[in-house]
Parts: sequence; structure tokens; C-alpha cells
Amino acid sequence: MNNHKEKILKDLQIGCGTARPVKAPTGNRLHCKGWYQEAALRMLCNNLDPDNGEDPDNLIVYGGLGKAARNWECFDAIVRSLLDLENDQTLLIQSGKPVGILNTHESSPRILIANANIVPHWATWETFHMLDKKGLIMYGQMTAGSWIYIGTQGILQGTYETFASLGEQHYQSDLSGKIVVTAGLGGMGGAQPLSVTMANGVAVCVEINPVRIQKRLEKRYLDIEAPDLETAMAEARKAAKENRPLSIGLCANICDVLPAMLEKGFIPDVITDQTSAHDELNGYYPKGLSLEEADALRKTDPETYMDMALASMAGHVRAILEMKEKGAVAFDYGNNLRAQAMKKGVDNAMDYPGFVPAYIRELFCKGEGPFRWAALSGDPEDIAVTDRELIKLFPHKKKMVNWLNMAREKVEHMGLPTRICWLGYGEREQAGKLFNDLVRDGRVKAPIVIGRDHLDCGSVASPYRESEAMKDGSDVIADWALLNCMTSVASGATWVSFHDGGGVGIGYALHAGQVTVADGTKEAEKRVTTVLRNDPGTGIIRLADAGYETAVRVAETKDVKLPMINMYNR
Ligand code: NAD
Repeated sequence: MNNHKEKILKDLQIGCGTARPVKAPTGNRLHCKGWYQEAALRMLCNNLDPDNGEDPDNLIVYGGLGKAARNWECFDAIVRSLLDLENDQTLLIQSGKPVGILNTHESSPRILIANANIVPHWATWETFHMLDKKGLIMYGQMTAGSWIYIGTQGILQGTYETFASLGEQHYQSDLSGKIVVTAGLGGMGGAQPLSVTMANGVAVCVEINPVRIQKRLEKRYLDIEAPDLETAMAEARKAAKENRPLSIGLCANICDVLPAMLEKGFIPDVITDQTSAHDELNGYYPKGLSLEEADALRKTDPETYMDMALASMAGHVRAILEMKEKGAVAFDYGNNLRAQAMKKGVDNAMDYPGFVPAYIRELFCKGEGPFRWAALSGDPEDIAVTDRELIKLFPHKKKMVNWLNMAREKVEHMGLPTRICWLGYGEREQAGKLFNDLVRDGRVKAPIVIGRDHLDCGSVASPYRESEAMKDGSDVIADWALLNCMTSVASGATWVSFHDGGGVGIGYALHAGQVTVADGTKEAEKRVTTVLRNDPGTGIIRLADAGYETAVRVAETKDVKLPMINMYNR
């Protein structure tokens, strides 16, 4: 096998010690000693591709502070470690820093990652920032520190599923003629405008940073930018009246926009938010400051900044509650805005639901979740092949077929070519085997790497999001996320991660991720199918245990063994 280690060290400017543009290597030549290590190297680089990550110079991938490596020295050391890693070794990553290499087995994970985990009693932003200042910790978000971020597409289908399900539930159709108001056009939030228009609705997306608006316009996730609120409202009303899908960006602070909308009697049909409210220091812009003023204050007086941000979030949530009172469908979009507002006295913030209990849990009960894959060749045609083959494999899954057709037409690749497609228990395993066969038969040009968001059916304990309002009251129990993590290790995933924080902030969630490589070998087939069966399997088990009938039914029909099954026949 050719080894092109020297070239990659040069291309990635390893050892230069500073920020530099990073692109994932492509093609079917190995730089590492195996495809598993190579996949990790390429996906780490892909997270930092300027086309993909939000602020790669600072190693930030998305979601406020979500990083891929602790600092550039750590990035260099990770790359060197992956290049030298043997096929029976495992690299340990502690909060974005490579800390050790162990001799394990060929069938063990090649990398184990733990990011931002703090003993529960101390798990606060305050402790995190103190440790961060000392250079001891890193915020991994969900897919940033676990190297499986695939750009805004990664959240696109989930966001589309959410809006489509909202339409079905509240309007018995799609979002035709309905206006959605939201904020935040960052890495995740940037998926909102396209998801709303895919569901045939009209979106007004408020974003304070003009660069973010520009990026979404360029990538065609956003249709137009309105120069002011009046124009945004007029364009939205007109498009809704004509049942014409349209997404409108508005450069402003949402804290100013919502009260102004209320004053003018503009009540949208749906109100939500995807600013990085989970992080009051780095993710949310307080009312009354320009972008530049806020960026300066964050550095000079972080205490005042955080106080202002939390107070602004309180006003933000009060406005959402008032819109709900006046007829809007309100839901929290997984950024912990409600809990943040509660810190400033909005005791009834939880009067509107989170998106998981409202629109997603039923999918989780079937083991459905954000299955995703990337073509390590770098060739978009490989993704087109997987799209076509998946449609052949599951022709009866009409929503999936529609999604893949729409995605092919509307979604531009960011960094390595990728695809997301929510698949259920059993289906993920079949898709994994299919992809491995495509690699084996040379139908795609290089191995395919398969992973998922940490936001999944069995992998998260997050009482204000994935495990909000559980039927049995088990919202805060984190054993499930740990069991999921250990299951992925036992099943032979290529890399496995466990994080604190993620979408809702330090102390509010614990979650696990796995990524597995299909390199066309028999060994990979065994690993891929085992991981992709058991990973969503833990979701079925978790939800069946909590008493969800759908999960119990799926377990029974698909042979997920529940030792205390009689308990569920109640
Ligand atoms: P991001 O940090 O990349 O983007 C946040 C955006 O909000 C930025 O562009 C910022 O300029 C803008 N913003 C902040 N305060 C604002 C204000 N007051 N008015 C207008 N714009 C403002 O974050 P992201 O990756 O897009 O994630 C957004 C949030 O969603 C995070 O809290 C994240 O943790 C959460 N999240 C949700 C899901 C989900 O499935 N719903 C998944 C992952 C993350």
C-alpha cells in the first residue's frame, strides 16, 4: 500500500503552529496505515474545511464554541498520531488533545474521544471556562469534536422532518401559506430557511451577522435578504398569500425584531429560534449592542456580557410566549433558550414544548435518526451512486425517496461530498451493508464513512431536548447515553465519542457518537452491520423501557430482545 505521509504533512502544514486553511485529502490513496485511521484524518480535516466549518481559524466548527481540536498544536499531534497509528492500536483523545496510544485489537475502535465531560456537581459553564482558560478542556458540541460534522446539510433533513411533522400535526398538510419566524443562520440554524421552503412554507430568518446571511444566500439555503423589517413582513405576507415557498433573511437582533412584530400585530403561524442561546457568552447577542460592540464587550467584560445576554433571552422568550398566546405555534429548537430565560425569572418558559417530544420522539421510537455518510474519494458522483442505490433498496419509503431527490437538486456539498438520511432500526444496518458492497465492487471510488449526529434515539440524556418529558419521568437519567457509547465500542465502531454539553450547554446533556468505515472488506461488513444494528437498538430499548408502545412494538417485530418484556404488557 502506498504511503504518502510526507506529502500530507506538507499539505496540512503540520508543525507550523498557527491557523491555516485545511482541506481533507481525497482520492483512493492511503496516507495512514489503514482506511479506519485515514477516515478519521479526512473527517477531522473536513470539519475544519473553510467551506464546512464556521470559524476554522479558531478550530470552531459550529454551535457557538464547538471545536474539532483543542488548539493547532493538538491538531498537528492528532494528524501525526493518525498517520502512525497501527491497525491494532487505539488513540485516546481527551477534549481535543491526543493523550495516548494503546495496543488493543484489530477489531477495536481506532479512536476513543471524550470531550468536555465534567463531574456532574461541577458541570457548569463557569467551571468549563475556568478549565478552558487553563487549556485543559474543549467544547466538542455534538459532531465538531467527534469529527462527523457535514455542514448545514447534517441538520437539514432533521429540520425538514420537524417542520413537515409540525405541518401535518397542526395544519393536516405541509406549511403552504404559513409563515415561520426564527433566528440564527449559523451552522445548524442555517438549515431552517431551506427546510421551511422544502415544506412549502415561508420563513423569516433573523440573523445579526451579515456574513452568515451571505453564506446561506451563496449556498442557496436562503432565497433573499430583506433590507428592513417592514419589507421582510410584506414579502412574507405576499408569499404566504400566494402559497409560494420563500425564505427571507433579515440582518437584525431577534430581541428587537420580536417586540416590533408584536407591536405591529404581525403574529407568525410558527415561532422558534436557533441562536446559540445555550452559550450566553459566545453564542447569543444581547439587545442594545451592535455586532462589533458585543464582540468587544465579550472580551473586555464577559460578566456584564453574560448578564445582558441572559436578560435579553428572557425578553426573547416572553415575546415567544406572547406570540403563542396570540395563536402562533411555538416550539423550542434545541438550544436551551427556555432554561436560560428561567435564570432571569421567566418561570413559565417551559409553557411551550421542545421539538423532540413535540415532533421527533415517535420517529425515535422506530429507531429513526440522523444516519449520514461521506464519500472519502471526494467525488460527488460517489454520493450520487449511494443516493440511487438507497432508493433502489427502499423504494417504498416515499418520504426518503422525495428527500434524496430534493437533496440532489438543492443541496450543495460543503467540503467532502456527504449525505444525510434519517433511517430506522434495521434500515441503517441494510444501508451500511449496501455501502460496503458498493466499495467492495468498485462502484464508488474509495471507502464510505458512516456516522450520525449525537442527537439520536438512544445516545442522549438531555432533559430539555432529547429526553424531555419522557413518559416514565426518566428525563435526567444518563445511564442510557453511557450504555449507547459502550455498545458502539463493543460493536466495533471505528471511532466512538462521549461528550457533555452539545446543543444545550455544559451540564444539560450527556451524549455519545459513533462513526464506522465501510472499506469493502468482510471485516468492515461485520463491524458496520453490528454497529448499525446495535446503535439504534439501544434507542428502541431505552424508549421501550420508558413505556413507549411504538418502541415496544418495534422491539417485538424486529427481534430486539427485552429481558423484562412482560413488564411492558401493561
Ligand atoms: P452557531 O453558533 O453557528 O450560530 C448561531 C447564530 O445565531 C450566529 O450566526 C449568531 O450570529 C446568531 N445570533 C446569536 N444571537 C443572535 C441574536 N440575538 N439575534 C440574531 N442572531 C443571533 O450555532 P448553530 O450551529 O447554528 O446552532 C444554533 C443552536 O442550535 C445552538 O444552540 C445549538 O446548540 C443548537 N442545536 C440545535 C440542534 C437541533 O437539532 N435543533 C442541533 C444542534 C445544535
